[in-house]
Amino acid sequence: MTLRRFEVTTLGTGAALPARGRFPTAQLVNVHEGLYLVDCGEGTQERLREQGINFLRIGRILISHLHGDHYLGLMGLISSMHLMGRTTPLHVHGPAPLKEIIDVQLRASSTWLRYPLHVHVTAPESGRVVFADERVTVTALALKHRIVCTGFVFTESPALRSLRRETLPLIPHFKRQAVKQGEDLVLPDGTRYPNIDLTLDPPPQRRYAYCSDTAYEPALAPFIQGVELLYHEATFTEQLRARATETMHSTAAQAARLALEASVGRLLLGHFSSRYKSADELLAEALPIFPNTLLSTEGATYLVDQRSIV
Ligand SMILES: [Zn+2]
Repeated sequence: MTLRRFEVTTLGTGAALPARGRFPTAQLVNVHEGLYLVDCGEGTQERLREQGINFLRIGRILISHLHGDHYLGLMGLISSMHLMGRTTPLHVHGPAPLKEIIDVQLRASSTWLRYPLHVHVTAPESGRVVFADERVTVTALALKHRIVCTGFVFTESPALRSLRRETLPLIPHFKRQAVKQGEDLVLPDGTRYPNIDLTLDPPPQRRYAYCSDTAYEPALAPFIQGVELLYHEATFTEQLRARATETMHSTAAQAARLALEASVGRLLLGHFSSRYKSADELLAEALPIFPNTLLSTEGATYLVDQRSIV
């Protein structure tokens, strides 16, 4: 069975200060060809261009918190969508002050957007639904940072049941969709076939968890338990653990510990401090604790896959 597309493209891996070759945080999540932008640091538009992504395909933007390296690219993108003639609605989710920040900038430049812009406030409580559409349900994660900060868990919508090959001749074409949706088959002569005899279970729903800026927070584990892919910030090495605690960030080892506690499939590290020219030393600290760890690479795409494919 071919799995539907569910993948994450890294657009930026830097932390607060600029670093050569790194952009600040942004990711593009593709769920069943629906595009969701997660955080939008400076330069996100350029990175999207490099990836050949049509901005107008992005239907929702999720902002984790209002530190500049996570959202200062947002106004530029909103403005570009306007200039490109967007007419379809755009939904932006983020902390409470975001609407005011956007409104004041639009007002100051006398910009009247051609498209409806809906700004929603994210409730910063783990497990609360941020939004749901036909492709995905996104819930919040209450992260532990200096200002209100939420992570996001993407859970794909359930797939239809698949028809058992040997039962295909039995099922009229016009009934197949209903059977895939779980209905029993009743033939014109009254014969009833229970759905379970005709179909196979769909593949399990896959999940992607995005932990933006946060101190080590073991309380997150139950909410990200068993996700196929976990992104977690890893700003510092253990040598700077005190600095991590003070700034409410994590070390790579702490990210790995959370991945282990939550039994996730794979861990993706990002948000590297500009003091690290290469992120390899961060990876080296995470691997002994959680071997299925990868460094986030800008421009790379990561599948949200079954564990067997890890
Ligand atoms: Zn931050």
